[in-house]
Amino acid sequence: MTHKTALTTHARLIEVFSAIQGEGLNVGTRQIFIRFALCDLRCHFCDSSHTWVAPDNCRIERTPGLRDFEIRTNPVPLPMLLEWVEQLNLSGLHDSISLTGGEPLLHAKFMMEFLPKLRTNTGLSVYLETGGHRPEQLAMILPYIDSVGMDFKLKSTSGESRWEEHAKCLQLCHNAKLEVFVKIIVSQKTEPTELERSALLVAGVSPEIPVFIQPVTPLETPVTFTNVSVLAPSANQVLSWQALMKRFIKQVRVIPQTHKMLNQL
Ligand code: SF4
Repeated sequence: MTHKTALTTHARLIEVFSAIQGEGLNVGTRQIFIRFALCDLRCHFCDSSHTWVAPDNCRIERTPGLRDFEIRTNPVPLPMLLEWVEQLNLSGLHDSISLTGGEPLLHAKFMMEFLPKLRTNTGLSVYLETGGHRPEQLAMILPYIDSVGMDFKLKSTSGESRWEEHAKCLQLCHNAKLEVFVKIIVSQKTEPTELERSALLVAGVSPEIPVFIQPVTPLETPVTFTNVSVLAPSANQVLSWQALMKRFIKQVRVIPQTHKMLNQL
């Protein structure tokens, strides 16, 4: 099924599971992850290229953290997804729900129906992870989310470049008074001029918005369509980039992917 013909009452999923968030402002917190299928970007460092197309099946964790997955058929009806999340939502365990992908905003119509029910049923806040390049779809679901982690894609590192869309998305979140942060994946090839441009863009919306510089985790096998190896930056590079960005923005933190250090899914 293509995403044009998808029912708004059904979702195309990769998986649902409970885990420790490894990136950004919520690092270390426990979340229920809903990983949606499909992505319209093709980042060179992508560690989720299996999400780019919607598979026939998805997998659902039965017990939080045990990885005792059940295989179910795609697309998934909305009430069934609510039920699966409730099954994982043990009292007091989770801090929030993470909408991730792929690119979750490709499912904005489904989310407009799903998120209000999800919030009411679970009582948990809803956190969106996005490539920050779909302002129209972001505007559709802004009333139903609590916080946003938005990527800025650097051409040198990801092969993608979406400055205008990033600016629109960040402004939308700021205007809606959502908690928002920006995550920038950097490699040996990252250009300081790109980071200066990123800092100026963020500062133009608000210098209070936190920015996370995330040194890339090199892939064991490069994604097949590019065969580009993306290598982690040196400590000296990262130190100088943080100093550069802090000229414009108050909070610039450097955090690698901690879930990979934990050998977590
Ligand atoms: S936006 Fe995320 S899922 Fe999509 S290609 Fe880039 S890293 Fe992969």
